[in-house]
Amino acid sequence: MTRVEVRADGPPLIDGYRAAVGDMALRSLEGLARRLRGHRVVMVNSTATGGGVAEILHRLVRLMNELGVPTTWEVMPGDARFYAITKTIHNTLHGWPGTLSASDHEYFHEVNRRAAAALALDGDLVLIHDPQPAGLVLHRREPGQHWVWRCHIDLSSAEPDVWSFLAPIVGRYDAAVFSHISFVPSLDVPAYLVPPSIDPLSEKNRELSDDEMEGLLAPLGLPARRPWVTQVSRFDRIKDPVGVIEAFLVMRRREDAHLVLAGGSADDDPEGAEVLAEVRAKAGSRSDITIALLPPDAHLTINALQRRSSVVVQKSLREGFALTISEALWKRRAVAASAVGGIPLQVLHDRTGLLVRSVPGCAAAMTRLLRSPDLRRRLGIEGREHVRHNFLHPREARDYLAIFARLVSAAESRAA
Ligand code: UDP
Repeated sequence: MTRVEVRADGPPLIDGYRAAVGDMALRSLEGLARRLRGHRVVMVNSTATGGGVAEILHRLVRLMNELGVPTTWEVMPGDARFYAITKTIHNTLHGWPGTLSASDHEYFHEVNRRAAAALALDGDLVLIHDPQPAGLVLHRREPGQHWVWRCHIDLSSAEPDVWSFLAPIVGRYDAAVFSHISFVPSLDVPAYLVPPSIDPLSEKNRELSDDEMEGLLAPLGLPARRPWVTQVSRFDRIKDPVGVIEAFLVMRRREDAHLVLAGGSADDDPEGAEVLAEVRAKAGSRSDITIALLPPDAHLTINALQRRSSVVVQKSLREGFALTISEALWKRRAVAASAVGGIPLQVLHDRTGLLVRSVPGCAAAMTRLLRSPDLRRRLGIEGREHVRHNFLHPREARDYLAIFARLVSAAESRAA
């Protein structure tokens, strides 16, 4: 099975979004959907759970269907060798050291070729997310389709050899989409900018009552009287969980607080167990650090954790965007986060959070936030408005439909 069936229970998403962003913000989305009614979209990525892309697709696919644009979601099958190769591609595109061998190149193409035969790629728009399934474009068969590559990675310091393997593949698409202008490489195809977004209605982000939160958090056994400083992330070196502990230990010399590192793994991430072991070794037997290993569907627990934390940290070393930050800002949380990748789109320094660049900087920001409830409140209020205007799903859906409408119009005028 390659198709993901998205849950479509409860009232229409669009009604809830109207309450969150207002009628005006939905008008262009609904207009574009009317223009594209009946055109079919296929989304493709490499995992149905774990990581930000899967998080987005579960709701965006449902929203597009509600809007009358039939949309399906295909997950590319892979194996351990393929995921090891694509993890290297992911890390090196983010500027991490690493190389691919000629046989890695061949295997990447081989898995993509097999997947092209297995997946239902029969949309008018095929939107391919990230490098893993990028090679599918080499097997496009149906004339009249539009193929778009959606890159969630910060390519600004991409390892040149790995990028030169991928660049000719990306050159076969009709357009490419990036989260930020600084990520856009030199390309022969049109590039569009679409930052990611979160769902204000999902289990991850909806309002919770005090009783619900208590019930959800009780199993974690966190101290009630100390403020919590929390990072929610897959156990990945790029998220620097060990650096979070280092910053916490510096901050802890001056402040009383409890650190929570909450995370799980993603199906396409082979390094999680290794990184988790490093984190456990660093935390040792300290009673003021909780490492919460969560199942992939622990959305409500993460929601409650973010809401109950005094400070949310995202000390990533590289980052495409970090949905976790929009999630925290939407909950009016005070955020301390690294000034890397797409994070500064969300964290406007001293307005919606504090940006940091180092372990001591992170420790200082945590300290400042813990000491000032007024500052936390001010940043939280502005952070929520920033997310409301820029980083909720209706805006991302509108951006995709606008690109799609442009491709369709260009094809229609070529045919006329
Ligand atoms: N997440 C989760 N469980 C975890 C860790 C993360 O549900 O154990 C969620 C997190 O709340 C966010 C997404 O997965 O919605 C991660 O997206 P982000 O852009 O922050 O990072 P990525 O993992 O895509 O690099």
